[in-house]
Amino acid sequence: MIIQDYKVFVFVKPSMQNKLMSSRDLLLNICFEFLYNTGQYSQVVLLIIGFEHIIPASTAAKFLLQNTQIMFNVYLAFFLSIVPIGKNSSLTDATKILDFAAVGDIFFGRSGKKFGLDHPFRYVKKYFQDKDIVAGNLETPFSLKRYRNRRKPRQCKYKKCSPDEARYARNHMLTFWGRPRGAEILKKAGFTILGTANNHTFDQGKKGLLETISILEKSGLGVTGSGKILEKAWKPHIINKNGIKVGIISVTTLYNFPPPKKGAFYAYSPFRGNYKYLPPVITKLKKQVDFAVLMLHFGEEYKNTAFRFEKNLMDLLAKAGLDLLIGSHPHVLRGIQIKGKMIAFWSLGNFLFDNTWKSRKYSGIATLRFVKKGKLKRMEKIKFIPVVLNGPSAKDKKYGKLPRPAGKKWSRIINRKVRRYSRTFKNIGKLKIDGNHLNVILP
Ligand SMILES: [Zn+2]
Repeated sequence: MIIQDYKVFVFVKPSMQNKLMSSRDLLLNICFEFLYNTGQYSQVVLLIIGFEHIIPASTAAKFLLQNTQIMFNVYLAFFLSIVPIGKNSSLTDATKILDFAAVGDIFFGRSGKKFGLDHPFRYVKKYFQDKDIVAGNLETPFSLKRYRNRRKPRQCKYKKCSPDEARYARNHMLTFWGRPRGAEILKKAGFTILGTANNHTFDQGKKGLLETISILEKSGLGVTGSGKILEKAWKPHIINKNGIKVGIISVTTLYNFPPPKKGAFYAYSPFRGNYKYLPPVITKLKKQVDFAVLMLHFGEEYKNTAFRFEKNLMDLLAKAGLDLLIGSHPHVLRGIQIKGKMIAFWSLGNFLFDNTWKSRKYSGIATLRFVKKGKLKRMEKIKFIPVVLNGPSAKDKKYGKLPRPAGKKWSRIINRKVRRYSRTFKNIGKLKIDGNHLNVILP
């Protein structure tokens, strides 16, 4: 039997009692410690010698609570040993790994305009193929029909138009809508989970949001950040793979259409309330998982720099136990912060978008490895891989400005920019250029 990285409790059959005599008090203490610890471990292996039951922690806790007396009187089970995690035991020191990648904003079209339907991730999907989790912020609702701002606006750009017409034209342009096919494209590219809490979540109304969720789920993609009820919108998406538990939540601090009161919801936390609201959410999430990831849709558009109040929030999130922050929304890149054990990619920019003017074409993929070895949990191989949204030549109209790995020239420019934006966090020495990408060196 292979037992790796679990706390092991061994209970012994009554017949072996004399050989392994232990005091009743010691057993009681162990039971308490066991119950206390079950809150912290996803799974505890209980070996009852002669019974060899392997049961999940919750069942074990219940069993111990209900049967302490039975255990003393009937089983006379005695504790043999608790094998401390990570210490002198070949059973416990196997290393578990989970490979992760994340990107910024993904957009599949404005009202009436098709976009991104011709293999948009063809040049970058190689970075996703060997990953266990690939996350991105889906900025476009998917639905069979458009539900909002369907009427084409009058072209009045160069003519005089009424304020109402001008407003409608702008709203129409800013109402995003994508065809359901986008979900398959994401799945085929290697994405596994999409954050759906952003300022465009509600662009196609309640119906559009519910359709988006069901289209993504039908394609086999994980969804976080929205749901039919508010609790669902805030529910973390938990990936339990390779013996590692990662919890991801997606939250927006901005909206275009105010959060609805019934029917469909998204995880919205205003900046004013973030200080009070978000950190406890992270603390709660961290208790359930090995690594807590927050996909936060925040920040001012086209701003590369961090504001004081945003930094304050980051400090609180790090304190709350957040491991990884993946920021999106500004359409441009921002810096990489290392705060204690937390790594924050403040903004990964546009990943698939039609808004690629000037520095809006600079993007990146964050990749890292979650590692768990006994009680030790850390992130390793943290990289920022620069990407540029660019056509191969001015003639290449068909495939447009798709995300491509930045070559020598672009990666030099992008890496330098990211390092410059990171200066404010005073960790520039921890961002090392390595070939075309940046390595994030943890202390
Ligand atoms: Zn946005």
